[in-house]
Amino acid sequence: EAAINRIAAGEVLERPASAVKELVENSIDAGAQRIEVVIADGGKTLIRVSDDGCGMAADDLPLALSRHATSKIDGSDLLNITSFGFRGEALASLGAVGRLLITSRTPGDGAHSIAVSGGRISDVRPAALTSGTVVELRDMFYATPARLKFLRTDRAEAQAVTDVVKRLAMAEPFVTFILRDASDGDTRVVFRADAQTGDLFDALHGRLQTVLGRDFADNALRIDAERDGFHLTGYAALPTYSRGAAVAQFLFVNGRPVRDKMLLGALRAAYMDVLSRDRHPVAALFVDCDPMLVDVNVHPAKSEVRFRDPGVVRGLIVSGLRHALAGAGH
Ligand code: ADP
Ligand code: MG
Repeated sequence: EAAINRIAAGEVLERPASAVKELVENSIDAGAQRIEVVIADGGKTLIRVSDDGCGMAADDLPLALSRHATSKIDGSDLLNITSFGFRGEALASLGAVGRLLITSRTPGDGAHSIAVSGGRISDVRPAALTSGTVVELRDMFYATPARLKFLRTDRAEAQAVTDVVKRLAMAEPFVTFILRDASDGDTRVVFRADAQTGDLFDALHGRLQTVLGRDFADNALRIDAERDGFHLTGYAALPTYSRGAAVAQFLFVNGRPVRDKMLLGALRAAYMDVLSRDRHPVAALFVDCDPMLVDVNVHPAKSEVRFRDPGVVRGLIVSGLRHALAGAGH
């Protein structure tokens, strides 16, 4: 009951970037190997996410649009969450804030589409699509001018979308991500990260080189540590590759991007002896654990987490990073 209320309470879709986050997470959950995002006018007039994932059957399309309908957990299982989606709310909310068109195809079946506009859900119709799912949201907040006015410039909203796509791309190095901007009639590629191969560390290193740049990759220490059921992996840069602001600290828990004070504090503490106070470490770190050991429902946008035992996680990060730094002579 408490969990349901907490989950339902939040307004997750506050800007185009939050819509893109929900849609790309759905594509990841669907097992997509290739995810393409197209936006126009900062995502305000168009957001289109196409994937080659498992798709939805015709009968499941209306279901996917109903609130609290998720195929990903049953009600008894709220703490045991392994996929991104768990609220069953994103598509329903998107249908309420813009003109939504979903086209999808499961292997062995034809493609179908369903549309929502002004709160009215259309019939399911046959459509054309070779595989996977395309979700298109046009004119976000067109019916609520107050919320539309709250959005920032197209440029700022487009930047927020880019940040979301890059963050998700860091966590899924084996998936291809493409972000295009289709404003002003011409389409340009804003970001492209081709699927990496090899083992996880090689793949992650290659992906981080694409997202964070060659300099980061060349200065990154491999992090691989474990304690009491928590696994820490990723890359953290040498102290010499620090920044004047805490802008390049990317943290993930069970594959989800998070912005968590405790985790950021642990990162800072690990570098305390090797960085002056005005410098900030650069890192992409992944904490993985049994979903029972972490509550990701603290915030509806899912960027905060609550660990059963924060002390263990903090200790793991500090010791794992210090070990790597010491190994590199720091
Ligand atoms: P949630 O992700 O929390 O389950 P959503 O509203 O985001 O809720 O999606 C509702 C349902 O629609 C999902 O549970 C899933 O079954 C289906 N779905 C959404 N997007 C996709 C997709 N890209 N590919 C396949 N199925 C999808
Ligand atoms: Mg979802």
